[in-house]
Amino acid sequence: MSSTPEPPGAARLGSGTGSLDRYGATRGQIDALIAAMGEPPYRAHQLWDGLWSRRARLADLTDVPAALRDQLETALPEALVERARSIADDELTVKWLWECVSGGAQVETVLMRYPERDASRGRATVCVSSQAGCAMACTFCATGQAGFERHLSTSEIVEQVLRASHETPQRVSNVVFMGMGEPLANYDAVWASVERLHGDLGLSARHLTISTVGVVPGIRRLAAERLPVTLAVSIHAPFDEIRSTIVPLNRRYPIAELLDAAREFAAAKGRRITFEYTMLEGVNDTDECARALAALLRRFSSTGAHVNLIPYNQTAGLVARASSGDTIERFASQLIAGGVNATIRRNRGVSIDAACGQLRWRERDGAEAETGVASPSRRPSVRMAP
Ligand code: SAH
Repeated sequence: MSSTPEPPGAARLGSGTGSLDRYGATRGQIDALIAAMGEPPYRAHQLWDGLWSRRARLADLTDVPAALRDQLETALPEALVERARSIADDELTVKWLWECVSGGAQVETVLMRYPERDASRGRATVCVSSQAGCAMACTFCATGQAGFERHLSTSEIVEQVLRASHETPQRVSNVVFMGMGEPLANYDAVWASVERLHGDLGLSARHLTISTVGVVPGIRRLAAERLPVTLAVSIHAPFDEIRSTIVPLNRRYPIAELLDAAREFAAAKGRRITFEYTMLEGVNDTDECARALAALLRRFSSTGAHVNLIPYNQTAGLVARASSGDTIERFASQLIAGGVNATIRRNRGVSIDAACGQLRWRERDGAEAETGVASPSRRPSVRMAP
């Protein structure tokens, strides 16, 4: 497993490395820190191996002396503080609300576990946030309606994966950039986190999925990258007139342009693209939409397209309403009859407000931080952000 190349200036770091954080520090920075602390080089190896290969908590690295671990807690601080945790009834879905140590912004992460009888053989997926808030303003999305706060740094993104993996016996094998934020609007930090998840954590690039609302220049950049990550495009409607009303970015990059860029990505990487389609009652769930979407995607590219229909997770205060289960099934059948591969996303974590931005939305409006399942009756009524 190769480690990430050093950023300029990394070698100059001494013991007073205030800017280092636990999952931002590269192997070279860890080596320099351990040397500056007067410790032998094999301690750097133990630390690196424990944090990244064994994916253990610093506190659990018992091969490192306790006094040194204590010093490292301060020298290599975490970038996120846990503010709330919700666990679904079946305990397979866990959602965190974190506060960033730097500046206090709040972001969310979801862990989805897929156990097997032998727990060590199961797999898990982590859904990470790439920004605190989002500037894209999609009308049905809690994060979009709350507005943009700031970009997350690479270490804040990577830490979400490590902290979630500490909480599951199943090996985290997949990471999806489907939490808060638009990953391609924070391209450099997101790409650097992809490089670290691949190079330092050992995840396969195809198991890293970047979901975009349609930032066309970002899709083109992705197509030119060395690592073949998986691309998911939030299409949500087959007509510009409808798409522009729910996804404001469509006015800048309309459907035809978006599909051109997606086709370019598919051709460059030889990978099938997933199209996400959140089903909104009376907006994009008609037979006409299903037929038009099938026509758009049927001959999308030689690699094909896959549509993932997402049942809308209702957010209090937003006008969007979920399509019924029957409507979603009918829509899926029409896509399949029209020659397009389609599946319905099994909504995990509805009971814990696991859709984009929902937990923060609830917390911000005064609900107490809680551990356990949020029952709908205990949810406070929330108002839409101005
Ligand atoms: N900005 C990225 C990631 C957003 S979250 C993107 O737009 O792709 C991942 C998906 O969840 C997107 O398709 C988004 O539109 C959708 N989504 C957001 N809020 C939702 C909700 N309450 N219910 C169902 N899907 C939602």
